[in-house]
Amino acid sequence: MSHYIFVLNCGSSSLKFSVINPENGEEPLKGLAERLGVGGVGNITIKTAAGGKTEQQLDPGTHQEALHVIVAALKKEGLMDKIKAVGHRIVHGGEYFAESVLVDDDVRNKIVDCIRLAPLHNPAHVTGIDAAREAFPNLKQVVVFDTAFHQHMPQRAFLYALPYKLYTDNKIRRYGFHGTSYRYIASQLPEKLGIAKPKAVVAHLGNGASVAAVDFDHSVDTTMGLTPLEGVVHGTRSGDVDPAIFGILTGQMGMSPKEVDDMLWKQSGLLGLSGMSNDCRTVEEAYAKGDAAAIRTMEVYCYRLAKHIAAQMVGLGGADAIVFTGGIGENSSLVREKTIALLEYLGFKLDSAKNHETFRGKEGNIAAAGSKPVWVIATNEELMIARDTDALSA
Ligand code: ADP
Repeated sequence: MSHYIFVLNCGSSSLKFSVINPENGEEPLKGLAERLGVGGVGNITIKTAAGGKTEQQLDPGTHQEALHVIVAALKKEGLMDKIKAVGHRIVHGGEYFAESVLVDDDVRNKIVDCIRLAPLHNPAHVTGIDAAREAFPNLKQVVVFDTAFHQHMPQRAFLYALPYKLYTDNKIRRYGFHGTSYRYIASQLPEKLGIAKPKAVVAHLGNGASVAAVDFDHSVDTTMGLTPLEGVVHGTRSGDVDPAIFGILTGQMGMSPKEVDDMLWKQSGLLGLSGMSNDCRTVEEAYAKGDAAAIRTMEVYCYRLAKHIAAQMVGLGGADAIVFTGGIGENSSLVREKTIALLEYLGFKLDSAKNHETFRGKEGNIAAAGSKPVWVIATNEELMIARDTDALSA
């Protein structure tokens, strides 16, 4: 009998879940609950693979109530007894976790300890673990960390040039994120590239965006750092800025630290530059019409992305391939075209027709003849979480 894994991704006010067959990725049920933990009524949408869709209010709007509704749906669909274990996506595992692990009290305490490094995300993950332990008391729980894949980065890549004591005493260092996505892509590369132990620069471009230097089964560098703010331009996050901006904006312009923080996380990136949207599609539509704000936005986005891709090659001593993934990487032929055009000097060139026909889950090498490979690969973080959970709960 086939079995399933319940994959849970808890945000501070949301809960995304999926029931996944870890062998073939089949997803009979998935859904999203929103407006949780904000003191009012929440809502949940549940979809079946057959096309069924139910929406209902959650009162109270809490993660616990969302799981009660989900458990009822699992029972109704005859799936409850087929679920073998629960897999949680966890943003920050600090230096504690270089791989996925089964949850016990010690693991939970370490995730709590990492709240100081990820104050927005880890509290919600702890809420999710507690609620799932209550909702599925007989199932094993596994945690899969966004930071784990990058735990093999060498010191030269993860240290900031700050007083060293900040690292030893406070664990202020670069961690990197999107590790579950990079690990999935890394697992696909040997077969796709026909190289046993490939080196690739992988760009995961979603609302949050990062680039990593992938050396076969681990990363040697990546663009996100202590938090997922550092690095390339994101949907609403700035990516790299001169850190002196903090003193200037608070000192000379009277902004509070929280205002500067909010600006860097929520009002910058594609949204801040374009003044339109954090959604790449909206900016691209305006770009196609010749809108000046959209043009400058895409220029900055792609120039910075190309610079970071080139920089990531340093850690690898050159790359066998460049890979694009994430919503923008998998779909935006414009971003790929403008970025790779800046990297021709490194031996990468696109085949325009292949680039334009590769989107919505289609994968392939979009490089021109004679170029080093440039791949588009659809990432699947949920499947990776399901596979880890399946293996650890055997
Ligand atoms: P998240 O980081 O939230 O998981 P995704 O990986 O889903 O994000 O990526 C979301 C981004 O992908 C959005 O900016 C969206 O505009 C972009 N995107 C999705 N489809 C397309 C498309 N056809 N063309 C350009 N961008 C797209």
